[in-house]
Amino acid sequence: MGVFGVFATSQLRNIGILAHIDAGKTTLTERVLFYSGVIPLMGEVHDGTTVTDWMSQEQERGITITAASISCRWRDTHINLIDTPGHVDFTVEVERSLRVLDGAVAVLSAVDGVQSQTEAVWRQAQHHRLPVLAFVNKMDREGADVHQVVSDIETRLGVKPVLFQLPLVVDEEFVGVIDILSREVVRFDSSTKGVRTTTESVPEHILDEVEIAREMLLDAVLVEGDPLVDAYLLHGDLPRETVIEAARRVVHAGKIVPVFCGAVLKNIGVQPLLDAVVDLLPAPTEITPETSIWGSAALALKADVEGPLAALVFKRMNDLRVGSVTYIRLFSGQLKVGDTVLNPRTGQHVVIGRLVRMLANEPVELKSVGAGDIAAVVGLEAQATGDTLCSIEHPLQLEAMTFPQSVAFVALEPATAEDSAPLEKAVRSLVEEDPTLQLSIDPHTGQLLVRGVGELQLEVLSERLRIDYRLHCRSSKPRVAYLETVSQSAEASACFSREVDAVLQEAEISIRLSAATRGDGLQLLWAKEHQDLPKDFLRAMEEGFRQGLKSAGDQGYDIVDVLIQVTDIQRKNDSETELAFRLSAREAVVKALSQIKTICLEPQMRVEIVTPDDYMGPVVGDLSARRGNITQVLAKAKHQVVTALVPLSTMFGYATDLRSLTQGRASFTMQFYRYERITSSEDSPA
Ligand code: GDP
Ligand code: MG
Repeated sequence: MGVFGVFATSQLRNIGILAHIDAGKTTLTERVLFYSGVIPLMGEVHDGTTVTDWMSQEQERGITITAASISCRWRDTHINLIDTPGHVDFTVEVERSLRVLDGAVAVLSAVDGVQSQTEAVWRQAQHHRLPVLAFVNKMDREGADVHQVVSDIETRLGVKPVLFQLPLVVDEEFVGVIDILSREVVRFDSSTKGVRTTTESVPEHILDEVEIAREMLLDAVLVEGDPLVDAYLLHGDLPRETVIEAARRVVHAGKIVPVFCGAVLKNIGVQPLLDAVVDLLPAPTEITPETSIWGSAALALKADVEGPLAALVFKRMNDLRVGSVTYIRLFSGQLKVGDTVLNPRTGQHVVIGRLVRMLANEPVELKSVGAGDIAAVVGLEAQATGDTLCSIEHPLQLEAMTFPQSVAFVALEPATAEDSAPLEKAVRSLVEEDPTLQLSIDPHTGQLLVRGVGELQLEVLSERLRIDYRLHCRSSKPRVAYLETVSQSAEASACFSREVDAVLQEAEISIRLSAATRGDGLQLLWAKEHQDLPKDFLRAMEEGFRQGLKSAGDQGYDIVDVLIQVTDIQRKNDSETELAFRLSAREAVVKALSQIKTICLEPQMRVEIVTPDDYMGPVVGDLSARRGNITQVLAKAKHQVVTALVPLSTMFGYATDLRSLTQGRASFTMQFYRYERITSSEDSPA
């Protein structure tokens, strides 16, 4: 039973909106909510009144930071919509949304075409095999060219775009869309904010153009061997519904990307796009089932309410009004208020107290959620993003999510002593929401150190503390999160023997510590005879090793990429305890490290810059001054796409620098690539 009444799983769509910043995602989302009747009034981005940009940060910057999952009903279909952020510092939002979505709408600007972030996000969607519809927005702007965007999609993204609509332009003004299949013009009555639409036949002078586009559409949709091909050849035409059915299949298979157009700010083209979402994108029952990785056999989880419960936690938020909100996607089974479920990672039993659906930003209570659907559980503690919730009788586990590495950090300090406790509490709450943020406390200064994936993410964090939480705090400039590693090897032994709580606790181990391959983190090697030790002891030692490597480099950074071989364990029989193993493991690492020097590693970023030809010289010169290594240059119409590997330490403030270097004409994306030895001594972090 949903908020909008009962609906079958086949009448459900879980859809994301992907776009480069400013393409019009938020404006579109607002229209979707308005036309589907969720909100009575339409807000605007430039007024700061949209529903999905409700965080003050978003309203001030005009960008979307958190992916709010919101729901609406279109025709007889229930649509869960995830507005995803356009900035690369928030790719984790995009990534975790993609995991729970079954299809996406890519919003492109009719003037700018495929931009760097569209491309990055699109590739992520391809990786998840999501069927995508393209919506070419801003058709009202000067220089809008749907055909140019189509060719851009084809060349830059390597997919096959197929026009399902053409723009109707009268006296150089974009006034409506032409449905190529029905040969009808749809107009949107501006006096009703586009709510009322009218259809009419295509004007004579563009009939030819429509027919050509129609041929191309049918060609792309009718697959060889399809019996429809014969029917088409026989009758010379096919009914719209038949073609849509065929299109649905090729879209789901990822063979084509249907292209639609509009100008959402002018309220043109939104309803036909919603029709396309219902008609062309898959229901949860039509996607490749997720598999459970619990136990030895993989179990396919179909979107069936009768199946075992399989819910994925894909987002956690601490909403200032509602409290802690845990977003889940049910891949299989059913979840009811009052159920007790299992988190297989923690082994904890969890009681489902409140289930809600987010209609815009208002929670609406639910009694249950069924397979395929997305909802939120209120008041759940200790569930992490990526966790599975399953039934106690039928334990299973969904594949975890991978997140980008956190390579930058800021140090936060309360402005006054009174702010100290609330500040830490607020930071913990924000860190809990975002799996790419990590908090540690500087042992020397007591400052809160927050690690994240990039500058903007950390800036937004500090601003949320100041504005949303009204806290007075000072924040350092973003700094590089260096790591350290070893190049030599060392051996050490450690023995722990002490009475704790009147019980003798003992352990004694010897290790050999050496360099491992870059990117391996900590590699452990146990001798055969140690593998039979109780699992709790092995785990305790591993924990001890990790503690020993923490902040243990010569410069005080964490040590990674080491191999620890446990060469000997002197058995103490009854007096062996987890505590003793953990502490002796830690001491062994500390002793081994004291004999050797460590080497500093810095994060290298993969930067992609799209710049007009005219600015190519300055952009490249600037990159080499930043110790950048150019790996690729691709020429596009009037643009160059430059890819380079650049140390993060030279990239803070790049957004501003690139803007002034190119008068705002270039754009860039930046992602973590890998940690590497620092080559230039002047850049060593000390
Ligand atoms: P987002 O960053 O993708 O969420 O984009 P927004 O919805 O915030 O829109 C960015 C800017 O483009 C805002 O100033 C909008 O008013 C404007 N905009 C959005 N859609 C259109 C459109 O169809 N035509 C024109 N001319 N401007 C638009
Ligand atoms: Mg937005």
